[in-house]
Amino acid sequence: MGGRARAHLPTTFLCDAWTREGGRFGDETAGLPEGTTALGRWPAELDTDAVVRLAEAVGDSASWEAMAATPPVAQKLAERARPQPLDLEIARHLRHLQHVCHRPRLHLRVEEERLPVSRARRIPVRAVADLVSHPGDWEHRTLRSIQPSRVLARQIEDEWNLYENRVAVRLVDHLLAYLAKRLEELRKIKEILDASRDYSEQMQRTSYRRAGRISELWSDTLESKTEEELSRTMQRLELAQRDLQSLLDASLYRQVPRRQSVALSLKPTNILVNDPHYRKVAALWRAWVKYGHKRQETQQQRAKRRSTEAGCWDRFVLHLVVRGLVDLGWSLQEQGPGRWRASRAGSLPVSITQDDGGVVRLSTDRSLSLVPLCADLSGADPDALQGLVQSLDSNKADVVLVHVGAPTAVADVDRAGGWTFRGKTVLFGCSPWGIDSEERMARLLRGWLVRAASPAYPVATEVRALEQLPRTWTWIRYQEPHLVALRPPTPEDLAASAAWASAKAKELDTVARRAKAAKQAFAVAPREAVRAFQRFVDEAPAKLAGMDLCPVCGGEGMVEPRPGRRADGADATWWAMCTACGSEWGTRPCTGCGSRYHTLAAQAGLDLADAAENTPDREWPDRVLGRDVWAQPCRSGTPGEYRCSECGVCSARGCRRCSSF
Ligand SMILES: [Zn+2]
Ligand SMILES: [Zn+2]
Ligand SMILES: [Zn+2]
Repeated sequence: MGGRARAHLPTTFLCDAWTREGGRFGDETAGLPEGTTALGRWPAELDTDAVVRLAEAVGDSASWEAMAATPPVAQKLAERARPQPLDLEIARHLRHLQHVCHRPRLHLRVEEERLPVSRARRIPVRAVADLVSHPGDWEHRTLRSIQPSRVLARQIEDEWNLYENRVAVRLVDHLLAYLAKRLEELRKIKEILDASRDYSEQMQRTSYRRAGRISELWSDTLESKTEEELSRTMQRLELAQRDLQSLLDASLYRQVPRRQSVALSLKPTNILVNDPHYRKVAALWRAWVKYGHKRQETQQQRAKRRSTEAGCWDRFVLHLVVRGLVDLGWSLQEQGPGRWRASRAGSLPVSITQDDGGVVRLSTDRSLSLVPLCADLSGADPDALQGLVQSLDSNKADVVLVHVGAPTAVADVDRAGGWTFRGKTVLFGCSPWGIDSEERMARLLRGWLVRAASPAYPVATEVRALEQLPRTWTWIRYQEPHLVALRPPTPEDLAASAAWASAKAKELDTVARRAKAAKQAFAVAPREAVRAFQRFVDEAPAKLAGMDLCPVCGGEGMVEPRPGRRADGADATWWAMCTACGSEWGTRPCTGCGSRYHTLAAQAGLDLADAAENTPDREWPDRVLGRDVWAQPCRSGTPGEYRCSECGVCSARGCRRCSSF
């Protein structure tokens, strides 16, 4: 475990950092140097529980196949939408708790205490003797008599603060805390249901492909009757919550001191055992202890829990990466613990590792680091956060800090949404509760892969003394010495070049024979060139494979080269159109930095400009197109305009919407 890549991990300021002992300390200040503060908080229980349960569902071995087969979403939502044991107990016994709060049993406390004379109503016999023994109570001491200021009186008053009443009042507190958490969970389930089932309103604003994938993703964890069950459960619990809240105004609640706590295991008092209402309150208390109570943790237990949760968060990040890659048609091969090789037709192979610090690294000749941050940054000061993230910019690798929850409020929306332009270190918020965490991760990976794992274009070599190729050929070009293949050859193209090469070879062989016979000199270079040409043609299909594969539907596309001006093809680009779905993709030159970048115009069945208009900057284009994106489409939604993946400059001249980022 010595190799925790600390150099690459964010500093302590961001939260969820490593201690020297190898544990994670989150927002606890114990390990922080003096004078520094953590920007993030340890995530809420709902989030950490979800990643822990998800890791359990994938299993300990966590092979990539197991991750690929498990949707990276909160588990068993259908079950959680139904009433849980404590929900049912509350429904059964709440009226007894109400009865007790409104009509509690009160003790008549009979007790003697010293009171000022004016308040003493009955003076017991013992009073005089007592008075003599308490000289402090003598107001005046005269020679003749003692004038008392206080005398022993018998005080009788209603006593609220019975043990049994304390049980009832504390139970109200406990149940309210339980219901608040439970309702938050149910509301999250409702959000997911609304987003994955009911597209009637949003349908105009999101691609039907994205909508379809999201509802498919959640279908395993939801059932057809979940919606109905969920609303019934919510209704019941909201009602119980209101009833409990109204008990806070009952006299009993106000009379019993707040500070007094009650031990978990109840004393079997006469009232708790025999009173018809109190005994139900006791039953409800025991149900709460069993199902709703979280044990107090020691510091050690808490550290251990957090370490497990952080480990599960690391796993979740890897899980999202694996799912994203598989979604995009990549297949993985395990190469040892924490090491995989990803491959796909038409792409360069990518090596993937996850180190002991949880960092997932994808590498070709470029490198992408996904750093898991088990932290909730929603409460962090946006400026401080942005400054800190900025300080981690690196031109060696693209760095993504993967934190828990929704995108943060930092002013730079590219940084908030995981767009790594110009070596920017960026944030990426996700969670098993996130409706589109997988879609967005797939988009992020896809944008990086198309930059880092696309083979060189065009395929070119240098050959001298080759004869001019037929002018009708569009897929291959020869301008001595540059032999350049611009698109994948069709079978007809291949047949034509083979016929041409063999005719040329024959011709040259004949010339050579005749020259030999006549004992004349002849050039060998042209014959060599034909051989080189044939080898180049044989290898070209594999090197250009995948260009014609539709990134959206997998159908076949027609590729049209745009050769550019340079003989070696260094400025050549290409464009393809899917004959099945109408999507278009290809490369284009950037007017800002001169690099060529990939763009994809997915056929999404919507008015992009209208969708852009109605989508917050922070969610563009994720909420509209999901993973069907290479370069970021212009924020105005104008078709055919994109921001360069390297420098971020928009292709629409003078675009105001994009230049502000
Ligand atoms: Zn297509
Ligand atoms: Zn550029
Ligand atoms: Zn623009």
